Amino acid sequence: MKTLSKYLRLPVWWPKSVRTEGEVSKSSEMQPTHSAAGWRRAVSYVIWPGLLATALTLTGLGMQTDYPVLVFNAVYVAFALTVGLFERLLPHEQTWLENDHQTLANLSHTLLNKGLVQVAVVVSAAVGAAAVVDPSEASYAIWPESWPLWAQAVLGLAVAEFGLYWAHRLAHEIPFLWRFHAVHHSVTRLWFINTGRFHFVDTFWSILLSQPLLYVLGAPLDVFLWVSATTAFIGILTHCNIETRTGYLDLVFNTPQLHRWHHSMKLEEGNRNYGENLMLWDQLFGTYYDDPSRRPPARIGIHEPMPARFRDQLVYPFRSPPAEERSATE
Ligand SMILES: [Zn+2]
Repeated sequence: MKTLSKYLRLPVWWPKSVRTEGEVSKSSEMQPTHSAAGWRRAVSYVIWPGLLATALTLTGLGMQTDYPVLVFNAVYVAFALTVGLFERLLPHEQTWLENDHQTLANLSHTLLNKGLVQVAVVVSAAVGAAAVVDPSEASYAIWPESWPLWAQAVLGLAVAEFGLYWAHRLAHEIPFLWRFHAVHHSVTRLWFINTGRFHFVDTFWSILLSQPLLYVLGAPLDVFLWVSATTAFIGILTHCNIETRTGYLDLVFNTPQLHRWHHSMKLEEGNRNYGENLMLWDQLFGTYYDDPSRRPPARIGIHEPMPARFRDQLVYPFRSPPAEERSATE
C-alpha cells in the first residue's frame, strides 16, 4: 500500500497545498487508513478539473444533437448530484455537512434565478437573431467569428467576466447593492445547494453588466451558450464542500479554495476574489487573494442578521438599514 500511495503523489514542482494530510484526516469522522488517505489525496487533485472537463465534453456532444438544451440540463443535474455525492465522500469541512435549515430557501432562490437566466438567454437569442437578419445592426460587430469555437468561447468568457467582476465588486463596495448580495453571503456553510442562492435583483445586476458586452462585440449565440454552461458548472464547483487541491489552477480559475476566502467574515479576505469563473480581472485589478500558509475560515457568513424564510429574504434588501453597519461591526 505504501508503494501505491507513492505512485499517487504528484511531482515535486506541483505547489504545496494549503492543507496537510493531517488536516484532511481531521475533517473526517473516521481516521482513514494510509491507502484511503492516498486515494482521497489523489481524488482531491483530479476532482475539480476532471468533473469540469467531463461536463463540458458532454455539453459539447449534446450541442451536436437535436436536443442541446435537454442534454445540457441532464448533464447539469447529473453534475450537481455527483458533486453532492463527493461532498459526503470527501468533505472539506465536516461542519458544513450539518443542516442549516436553508435548503428550501436556497432552492427557491435558485429556481427564481434560473427563470431569470432563461429569459436573458431568450433575449440574447432574439437580439443575436436581429443582428444577423439586419446586417446594418451587425456592422459594429468586431467579434472574431473566424476563430475556432473554443477560442471564441474563451474570449467570450474573459469578456463576460469583466462585467461579472465589476458587478460583483460593486455589490460589495456599494452599500445599497450589498444589501442584495448579502443574501448570498449570509450562508454559514458552503455546499452545492447554495450555488444559486442569489437575490434575483443581484442576478439581474450581474446579467446587466456582463451580457451587453457580448452583444456589443457581436458574439454569436454559441458563445453565449458556452459562457452560460461554463459559468453554471464552475459555479457549482466554486461553492462545493469537497476537499480539492487545485494548485496552479488557483491562479487562473475561481476555485473552491479561492471562493472560500471570498466568504470569509473578515473584509480583508471577503472583499477579494470577485471573478465568477476566472481570476483574470482580480489579477489585473489587484483583488486576487490566497494564503497558502493557512486554511480558509470554516466559520463564514455576514455580521448583520438575515431572515430565515425565502420571502423575507426577498424583501430584506428593501427593509434593512444601510449596510454601513457591515464595516462598522468589523
Ligand atoms: Zn460576493
